[in-house]
Amino acid sequence: MERLANFDSLTGLPNRQFFMETLRIELAKAKRGEHNLVLMYFDLDGFKGVNDSLGHETGDQLLIKVCERAKSILREGDIISRLGGDEFLILLHNEPNDYMLLEIAERLVVGLSAPFDINTWEVQVGVSIGIAKASDSNFNLSEFVSNADIAMYRSKTAGRSTHTVFIPEMMEDNKRKLLIANSIASAIKNDEFAVYYQGKVSPNETTVGYKALLRWSSDSLGFVSPAEFIPIAEQSGKILPITKWVLERVCKDFKQLCGLNNSEVTISVNLSAHDIKNLQLVNFIKNLFIKYSVDPRLIEFEVTESAYLENLDMANEFLTQLRDIGSSVALDDFGTGYSSLGYLTQINLNTLKIDKQFVDNLNVSERSTLITKTIIEMAKQLKLQICAEGVETREQAAFLIESGCHQLQGFLFAKPTSLELLLKEKEQLVDLEKNA
Ligand code: C2E
Ligand code: MG
Repeated sequence: MERLANFDSLTGLPNRQFFMETLRIELAKAKRGEHNLVLMYFDLDGFKGVNDSLGHETGDQLLIKVCERAKSILREGDIISRLGGDEFLILLHNEPNDYMLLEIAERLVVGLSAPFDINTWEVQVGVSIGIAKASDSNFNLSEFVSNADIAMYRSKTAGRSTHTVFIPEMMEDNKRKLLIANSIASAIKNDEFAVYYQGKVSPNETTVGYKALLRWSSDSLGFVSPAEFIPIAEQSGKILPITKWVLERVCKDFKQLCGLNNSEVTISVNLSAHDIKNLQLVNFIKNLFIKYSVDPRLIEFEVTESAYLENLDMANEFLTQLRDIGSSVALDDFGTGYSSLGYLTQINLNTLKIDKQFVDNLNVSERSTLITKTIIEMAKQLKLQICAEGVETREQAAFLIESGCHQLQGFLFAKPTSLELLLKEKEQLVDLEKNA
């Protein structure tokens, strides 16, 4: 009974409850004895992929082997516990100095990244580690664990298979994230969001479309960049109301945007990874198009490569439904996430967007120029439209046009601008033409 209550049945390691109880006692002792404690929080990178592709049984075997290997890397007296899933906590048995601490973390990262032999499979995962010291949490149990978790999360976002030591500034960051997450709902209510539009041009520099980009001027936080708040909204499950708001705003602006130009333009809207898992959103979009008399053919949905690949089947289903009503789909940030090109033949796309990072690297080195050229060539072979993003110089534009890009987007041609200002500029242009 005691074993069942205190140990994880799969790995035989102490479970969360037992570990937390031990930690509580150790923290009290450490505080009295005025010595520090060190906690390591680790989580496997790519564990979900193993479970999905090789099955749960292999996943379970992997967890057992990970825990065996981790134990062999640690010293006697260190306590390792499985919190659940692929998350583990380690309490080091006495306070190592900083040098030793990093050495232990490095040994875990390297050791656990080596392949495991499981049922004839060679399975490889990485490990992201967060390290916290008890003194940074005033020997408070939940804060201590939470600090290690925050540091682990840093390792994940820093590119995985690495370790990070918690520092109090990370707490400030976390507070801001919470503040942002908590302000999003009221931001919609208080009308703090706005959509700006960035023109896209054809090789002869006529405007062929606009990209809708969200702006947030918060009453309490000031201007917050979408690069900061969109990922937070995604992580905290608050992206859907934002997407819906943007979609409605774009549909409301649609007629006026079309009126800005003599020829047809396409309006592009971002969808996030979470959005395309929700088929109900397709109905919402269809209803908006009817309500605001929007021609679906003139709306393009931009999805990032990583969002698409997070759930390929679901994304295909979602985006096929949008294409069925006549809208088009662009793959954004191409080349930044997964370097596997195989999936490009499995998905149904109209446009490939070349990420700014490739445009920036043009003419920097022969090699990077060649890579960009190859991407364009490949997109052409796949009969895709190609849009280059973040074009800032004449040299970049000339190269991209020469290579066969169909559309260019960047500060060289237009910055994201409010509809109000776009309308004013248009008015001025008409006046100028009249007077000329
Ligand atoms: P994105 O969709 O890839 O948008 C392009 C970003 O590059 C925009 O940044 C744009 O202002 C910027 N940009 C365009 N041309 C240039 C250039 O020549 N030079 C430089 N330095 N930057 C350029 P922004 O508006 O800050 O948006 C950042 C990201 O936030 C977007 O990247 C997108 O991922 C996300 N985002 C923005 N609005 C929305 C939205 O309505 N929904 C969702 N889901 N995400 C959004
Ligand atoms: Mg992009």
